[in-house]
Amino acid sequence: MIIKNWSGNLSFMPKKILKPKTTYEIVQIVKEAAIHKQKIRLIGSGHSWTPLIVSDDIFITLDDFQGVSEVDKVKKTALVKAGTKLKFLGEELFKHGLAMENLGDIDVQSIAGASSTGTHGTGQNLRSISNQIIELTYINGEGELITCSEQVNPEIFSAIRVSVGSFGILCTLRLKLVESYKLNMSLFPERLDDCLKKWVQYVSQNRHFEVFMFPMSEMCLVKTMNETKVDVPNKKIERWINDIVMENWLYGLFNRVAEKFKIYHVLARILDKFLSARTVIDWSQRVFATHRSVKFYEMEYGIPAENFLECVQKIREAIKVNKFQTLFPIEIRFVKRDEIYLSPCYQRDCVYFAVHMYIAQSPTEYFTALEKIFQSYGGRPHWGKMHQANAHYLSKVYPKWNEFITLRNKSDSQKIFLNSYLTELFR
Ligand SMILES: Cc1cc2nc3c(=O)[nH]c(=O)nc-3n(C[C@H](O)[C@H](O)[C@H](O)COP(=O)(O)OP(=O)(O)OC[C@H]3O[C@@H](n4cnc5c(N)ncnc54)[C@H](O)[C@@H]3O)c2cc1C
Repeated sequence: MIIKNWSGNLSFMPKKILKPKTTYEIVQIVKEAAIHKQKIRLIGSGHSWTPLIVSDDIFITLDDFQGVSEVDKVKKTALVKAGTKLKFLGEELFKHGLAMENLGDIDVQSIAGASSTGTHGTGQNLRSISNQIIELTYINGEGELITCSEQVNPEIFSAIRVSVGSFGILCTLRLKLVESYKLNMSLFPERLDDCLKKWVQYVSQNRHFEVFMFPMSEMCLVKTMNETKVDVPNKKIERWINDIVMENWLYGLFNRVAEKFKIYHVLARILDKFLSARTVIDWSQRVFATHRSVKFYEMEYGIPAENFLECVQKIREAIKVNKFQTLFPIEIRFVKRDEIYLSPCYQRDCVYFAVHMYIAQSPTEYFTALEKIFQSYGGRPHWGKMHQANAHYLSKVYPKWNEFITLRNKSDSQKIFLNSYLTELFR
């Protein structure tokens, strides 16, 4: 059977596809693989672009290993099976009056997949999903079940939460949660130059702030999200029209036409006229999540937040000089520093630039030009998104790179969890 990821840029045929239902079954799979010197890769929901999930040997999905248990409303914690999808997780927690502190902009990923690549949302006082884990269990390359947290095996804990499945198989994750909360999301167009003048206030005065900068326009879309106590209005149809019809069907049509007739400039001007203000009020897990049906390529880098303005100007120059054409925005988000060894936010507050390109276009020149800019600031790539950073570069931008490799090799001495891409990175 041929396996493909969400965007379709990866396709491969594993020898064996396994769907374990219990921890015991996962342990047996790993023990067998270790004896027969087989390789294992895992998939969450296949929403990464980098070849992390590619396997020509054993391929595991934890789709039958989902669920939430041991919910503690006082401590605001819950134990979650690694294959649990974020959408299901959000609604299960909501039944107990609990929620994740922050999320990215889709909810179809598995909790283990999202954590393993450092998936993040936005908010200068908020960290990535990996930081919401306070304890986990995993199976190492010997088939042993190991527990780790800040108290137990703390070094492994600092490394494994963002380790792209290279330490072994994550089984259960205990999450630190918050009380359910509602968000008021406000989206409005603004001239990019005006937005840049106010960015410090925007970042500091909103729980969440992000900017969608359009490469072929002087306009941007500003998105803020803040807690609210007001009742959730019944605007399901209006939201469906905006989220599905405008942001997906119509947007997809614009991209198809622009690419087919090479009329990006005309359509970029028309698209400017469609930019309009709107608000959404709902429970947090329903506001964070957006629908994405138009396929695209994506590269994302986190750079030190203080380089934000300078970096934006360099990006604008590069787009102008090279005449890059795309209707897809560059999404700019702010995330708080953390202590996870291979987190792009390791010991620095980050501004993330997510660069997108429509799937029918070739992203190479555009991504390469912008990647050079990000790397000039010591940028760290998102582990799940396209990039060309090699082991040499990564070892320079991650102070704990060598410690990570040592711990990884201890956890999986036979390298059963490395495919050829990961062998090249973590050699
Ligand atoms: C449309 C779209 C929107 C996105 N939005 C955001 C966003 O807002 N913010 C952001 O930061 N990222 C975003 N991403 C990227 C995405 O969140 C990450 O690539 C994430 O890893 C995908 O989760 P997944 O469950 O699909 O994992 P996969 O891509 O399937 O796997 C990711 C990694 O996790 C490993 N893994 C999975 N399960 C386990 C396990 N049980 N134990 C050990 N390792 C495991 C896999 O082997 C792999 O290395 C987006 C991607 C898409 C396609």
